[in-house]
Amino acid sequence: MTFWICRTCGVEHSDRPDVCAICADERQWVPATGQAWATLEELAAEGYQAFLSPLEPDLYAITSTPGAGIGQQSKLVVTPHGNVLWDPIGFVDDAVVEAVRELGPVVAIVASHPHMYGVQVEWSRRLGNPPVLVAESDAHWLARPDAVVETWTGSRELLAGVTLSQAGGHFPGSAVLHWAAGADGRGVLLAGDTLFPNPDRRSVSFMRSYPNRIPLSAAVVQRVAEAVEQVPFDRVYGNFDNVIAADGRAVVRFSADRHAAWVRGDHDDLT
Ligand SMILES: [Zn+2]
Ligand SMILES: [Zn+2]
Repeated sequence: MTFWICRTCGVEHSDRPDVCAICADERQWVPATGQAWATLEELAAEGYQAFLSPLEPDLYAITSTPGAGIGQQSKLVVTPHGNVLWDPIGFVDDAVVEAVRELGPVVAIVASHPHMYGVQVEWSRRLGNPPVLVAESDAHWLARPDAVVETWTGSRELLAGVTLSQAGGHFPGSAVLHWAAGADGRGVLLAGDTLFPNPDRRSVSFMRSYPNRIPLSAAVVQRVAEAVEQVPFDRVYGNFDNVIAADGRAVVRFSADRHAAWVRGDHDDLT
């Protein structure tokens, strides 16, 4: 069955509207050259290939060359009881599916928020139809509904020590995935765009829109930080190759307080 992939965000659509609603939203952007679509077959014919590469023991990155959508990076968390595919990219091919299958069964596919839906239903079809979990409050963004989609809200333990939780902020349903065994047992947070590890590698940002620079309020940022700091973690992976390697929990607290102080007006740019 043909489906359409938005060339800007990489999100799959069951039909081809005039414009991708996710890109037309104030958090994203439609290119000056206009809306463009591709099929999976067209991307493959253009030379797209997807790759699996290790990040740390039992955690893998999945990317494509060229970068599909905004060039994000999926994560695959491997556990003895099954695996979780996080933020599935907007391209998939047979070689990467084989590489993923060799690491064990994927028991759930989940995107942190609608920008990261990618070709999530397609990934599920190729991986034996595991459920695609979509936050209830963001489900209206879903452009390729399917029987494999299950909505969720609040928090859900997907596997022992792998817990999905709804922190909000960037989208009402923006999620993080906590992996207790990650970072040698100190804990890993897969952050999506819920919080964004910055290039300085010692702070994170919290934004309604990253490309269009729309900040979140102090109250919302504090709420997001409080939601994620309920559990211990040391390392924070963003949805590209951005990472806070250590002291992630302290970095989130410092960054939330700094953001709140600036947007509250505590600082004056003249001093
Ligand atoms: Zn789009
Ligand atoms: Zn986003």
